[in-house]
Amino acid sequence: MTLDHTHDAMLRSWVKEANGHPDFPIQNLPLGVFSPEGGAQRAGVAIGDHILDLTGLLGTDLLQGEAARAAEAAGGGALNALLALGAGPRRALRARLSELLREGAPERDRVAALLHEAAACTLHLPARIGDYTDFYVGIHHAENIGKQFRPDQPLLPNYKHVPIGYHGRASSIRPSGIPVRRPRGQSKAPDAGMPSFGPSSRLDLELELGVWIGPGNDLGTSIPIGEAQDHVAGYCLLNDWSARDIQAWEYQPLGPFLSKNFASTISPWIVTPEALSPFRIAQPPRSEGDPRPLSYLLDEADQSRGAFDLRLDVLLSTPGLREAGLPPHRISASNARHMYWTVAQMVTHHTSGGCNLQPGDLLGTGTISGPDRDACGSLVEATLGGREPLRLASGEERRFLEDGDEIILQARGVREGFAQIGFGECRAVILGAVA
Ligand code: CA
Repeated sequence: MTLDHTHDAMLRSWVKEANGHPDFPIQNLPLGVFSPEGGAQRAGVAIGDHILDLTGLLGTDLLQGEAARAAEAAGGGALNALLALGAGPRRALRARLSELLREGAPERDRVAALLHEAAACTLHLPARIGDYTDFYVGIHHAENIGKQFRPDQPLLPNYKHVPIGYHGRASSIRPSGIPVRRPRGQSKAPDAGMPSFGPSSRLDLELELGVWIGPGNDLGTSIPIGEAQDHVAGYCLLNDWSARDIQAWEYQPLGPFLSKNFASTISPWIVTPEALSPFRIAQPPRSEGDPRPLSYLLDEADQSRGAFDLRLDVLLSTPGLREAGLPPHRISASNARHMYWTVAQMVTHHTSGGCNLQPGDLLGTGTISGPDRDACGSLVEATLGGREPLRLASGEERRFLEDGDEIILQARGVREGFAQIGFGECRAVILGAVA
């Protein structure tokens, strides 16, 4: 997790709009899978408002050694084999891409021929997601939700000892831009005698980070906490759509089921651990009286560098706001620092019983809310369970999401002395209920 010349804030690209780009300056270089207009799926790198065709670059002699090995593994319309290679080839590719894209690069004309305008391309899921696991490490979210159910004991006794999670559904994960159908399901209002079946009336979002697994481990083995970061290949934004009415009725005793499995939306670019190096921070200290993590979850290096300072935003666009020409409403401004467990602790805990993580598996952090009302990563928190609606500039109110509403998640690394980078958008609009 070291800094090198690829992080230099003075570094500029000959791709003009990349300089000062809020998401994709030359210091970021996230990896993804795209198809140009009418073309086949191929690996790409985001630079400014363009995508560099990594598969096409492999057909030149501009990549050698480990960088070429990384690009070769990125073929076939999914990046799983590249993720499996681990940090070495990934870093070599980053270093070479940084050379090829910087101002004054002698290879400029040959590389420019492989650029596509991002707006004319389709972005796909960057990897085949074998398994998806959702954690619950956003402590303010856990407390806010817990208070609504158990005012006296918001956090259950296990929370500060074990990273809580459940196995989610991989088949319904979609990249940014694909609309989400409102689920139908079974729910029961507290004062109703019997449950009923119909469209969810309490559809919500969850602001999360997604973690892309790299090499992983064999079944029956575990990943020690000191090695966990070697198995993280990158990060994305994750909106873990949730139907609160269905959830409230079904979640006991085994946890969420249909309330979460109908859709999850991710940002399509894999932002690498290397790109995020400047935004690493120490894991915030635990409150006085909190237990020390058990030793299998405790590593000094992880505690001193294992957390992130990333701005996380949730924006809501409604039909009314759009008709009035008004910008999206900011529901939340949160930060990735509000995680009670680090990503390394999540990875190690996941494998500690012998479960195998595989390249392209996706972990969700759980909703990352801040301590204040304007930093809530879900509507059920921001509206106190629907009791206090959001009031929008269009005159509309929202307790939960309505058809035609669109949620946009953003993540940005901002630090004095470094170039700002971002994850790109994670957005989706809500469509009417499934038939
Ligand atoms: Ca979640």
